[in-house]
Amino acid sequence: MRLLPNILMIGPPGVGKTMLAKRIPSILPPLNKEERLEVMKIHSVAGILPEDCILKERPFRAPHHTITPAALIGGGKRPKPGEISLAHRGVLFLDEFPEFHRNVLDLLRQPLEDEEVRISRVDGNFTFPSQFMLIAAMNPCPCGYFGSETHKCRCTPQQIQSYLSRVSGPLLDRMDMQIELLPVKKEIYLSETPVSESSDNMKKEVLRVRKIQAERYQDESIYYNSQLSSDLIRKYCHLNSDSRKILNRALARWNLSGRSYYKIIKVAQTISDFDESQEIEGIHIAEAIRYHCIEKYYGKE
Ligand SMILES: [Zn+2]
Repeated sequence: MRLLPNILMIGPPGVGKTMLAKRIPSILPPLNKEERLEVMKIHSVAGILPEDCILKERPFRAPHHTITPAALIGGGKRPKPGEISLAHRGVLFLDEFPEFHRNVLDLLRQPLEDEEVRISRVDGNFTFPSQFMLIAAMNPCPCGYFGSETHKCRCTPQQIQSYLSRVSGPLLDRMDMQIELLPVKKEIYLSETPVSESSDNMKKEVLRVRKIQAERYQDESIYYNSQLSSDLIRKYCHLNSDSRKILNRALARWNLSGRSYYKIIKVAQTISDFDESQEIEGIHIAEAIRYHCIEKYYGKE
């Protein structure tokens, strides 16, 4: 059961994708004692835990796109944890997502599903935990400026299509949110009251919403919206007539899968929790759909 959502960020070069990803561990709830021990154990097996080190922040790992399968997933003669296990309880950031080898990316599917990775060797099987939040980043097209107001994109539709198709559909399907990042307009940048939120405030907000969720699910064996099964979604997520209409329209228009359907509702429930609303309203579902439709972004309507 996933606790942390997977996010795909799409935006032109220099828009701040890496900076944003690096900040994410700072707005997540702190590691509890048990989690910290788990993480330290893995880092110690990998031989990267400095002596006398008490880990404070959640891990943030950002391997380069030339990484080998063994270094990402784990491996070696006496298997060592790979980046996906070093990112356990934290963030795995894959910048230039489509530049990773397709076979390397496809190896992520099983651990994303099971939150652990199994490596078989002649002398036995090894299992390493790998419950990480995947944050992938990519340009919208090979030149980087598709959809930009300031630069002209020089790519052909075929080039864009082939760039996008380097990331397989099943992997895209496992991303809970797809976020489009656009350059901040100069007028906003220079305005006297910058629209920004400190990490501390954001962390407080995250904790507030997590508390709402933990209370709602006190009679279930889950804590957060991200863990809702389809049965529990039917029990706890109430769409009003507006949001139901909007969601049905989006499903028909982009031919979304059942998996997408439930994912959108879970994200919408979280947005509605931020508003402390009793039901999922139209604006909540519309925002959740925006975080989902890469298809729309690429005009595949
Ligand atoms: Zn382009």
